[in-house]
Amino acid sequence: MKLTELGEFAFIDRITPGCQAGDPRRVIRGIGDDAAVIEAGDGALVVTTDLLVERVHFLRGTISFRQLGYKALAVNLSDIAAMGAVPQEAFISIAIPPTVSVEELDDLYDGMKDLAAATGVNLLGGDTTGSKADLCINVAVTGSVPRDQVLYRSGARPGDRIVVTGTLGDSAGGLTVLLERPALPDDAAQALLDAHYLPELYLTEARILAASGAAHAAIDLSDGLASDLRHVCRGSGVGAIVDERSLPLSDALRLLCAATGHDILRLALAGGEDYRLLATVDAIRVEELRAEVAVRTGRSLFDIGEIVPGDSLELRRADGTIGALTMSGFDHFPVPARPSAAEAP
Ligand code: ADP
Ligand code: MG
Repeated sequence: MKLTELGEFAFIDRITPGCQAGDPRRVIRGIGDDAAVIEAGDGALVVTTDLLVERVHFLRGTISFRQLGYKALAVNLSDIAAMGAVPQEAFISIAIPPTVSVEELDDLYDGMKDLAAATGVNLLGGDTTGSKADLCINVAVTGSVPRDQVLYRSGARPGDRIVVTGTLGDSAGGLTVLLERPALPDDAAQALLDAHYLPELYLTEARILAASGAAHAAIDLSDGLASDLRHVCRGSGVGAIVDERSLPLSDALRLLCAATGHDILRLALAGGEDYRLLATVDAIRVEELRAEVAVRTGRSLFDIGEIVPGDSLELRRADGTIGALTMSGFDHFPVPARPSAAEAP
C-alpha cells in the first residue's frame, strides 16, 4: 500500500499501537497532541519535533537561510505554546547536500540563534549528516508547564468559545505572492511574505491561557483552521460552528484576493502554516483573557465561533446559512470569482 492511499493521520494511528513499551508511569500523553507530555516531578515536560524538507516544505532560493533557521525553530516553539508550556531546550539535526555552503549554514544558525535568544531557549545538541540532494532540518524542542495547566487537544467543552491569536490565511497568501508574483502594493506583499517566512509566536498568550484555567483545549494552526479544529473536535468528542464574519482577515490578504481572484475563505480556512494558536475557552471569560493579552502583548484574541455538542464542524456563512466545514476549507460551497465575506453566496 502507498502512504498516499492511507494519509498522514491514518498512518500515525496505524503506527501508534505498541509504541509505549516503557514505564507507563512516566507518560502523561503520548502520540496524538502537539507535543508529548512526560512526568517531571511536580511539573510536566513537553517534547515536540518537526522536520522541514527541501522541495516539500521550502524551496531553496525563495527563502533565505536565516529565515529558514528562524522558521525551523519557530514551528516547534509553536507546538510547545499549543500545550500551554514555556520552551526550554532545542536540538537540531541537519542533512546537508554538497550544494549548501558553510556560510549559508552560518546564516541558518544565526536565524535559529536569534529566535532562541529572543525566547530564552538553549540549543543543546543535534546531529549533522550529508544528503545527496535535499536539505533537511529537524528540530526537537522541550518545554515545561505545571501539570494541571497543560492544554490538550482533548479538553474542549460544548459552550466554549473558539479563539485564535491572529489573522488567518496570511502565510498561504505569502506563498501565493511567491508563486504568482501578483501586482500588489509593496507593504501588502511584504506583510504576507513575512507571515510565510517568519511566523509570529504566541508564547505569552499560551501562558495566559494555560494559567487562567479558562482555556480547556488548544492547538496551533499548522495545517489550516478546518483541519486543526477537526483535531480538537475529534479529540474532545465535540462539534464546532465557526462564524465566517468573525474570521480575522488582514487587509493584505484582502488585497491579494481582490487582485488574484483567490478565494479568501479557502485561504483562511485551509491555507496552513499560519501558526496562530487556537484555544477553546470558557465563554464568560473571553473578555477577561482578551484584556490580559492586550495589556501584556499589545495583541488580541479573536472569537471565531463556538464548541457545540455532537461531531459536526460547521461554518455559519455571512448570510446566516450553515454548511459543513470540510478539510479543504469549504468544498461544499460554490466559490464566487471575486470572493469577499459579504458577497459570498
Ligand atoms: P503537529 O502538526 O502539531 O506537529 P503532527 O500532525 O505532525 O502534529 O503529529 C501528530 C502526532 O503524531 C504528534 O503526537 C506527533 O508526535 C505524532 N507523530 C507524527 N509523526 C510520527 C512518527 N513518524 N512516529 C511517531 N509519532 C509521530
Ligand atoms: Mg501542532
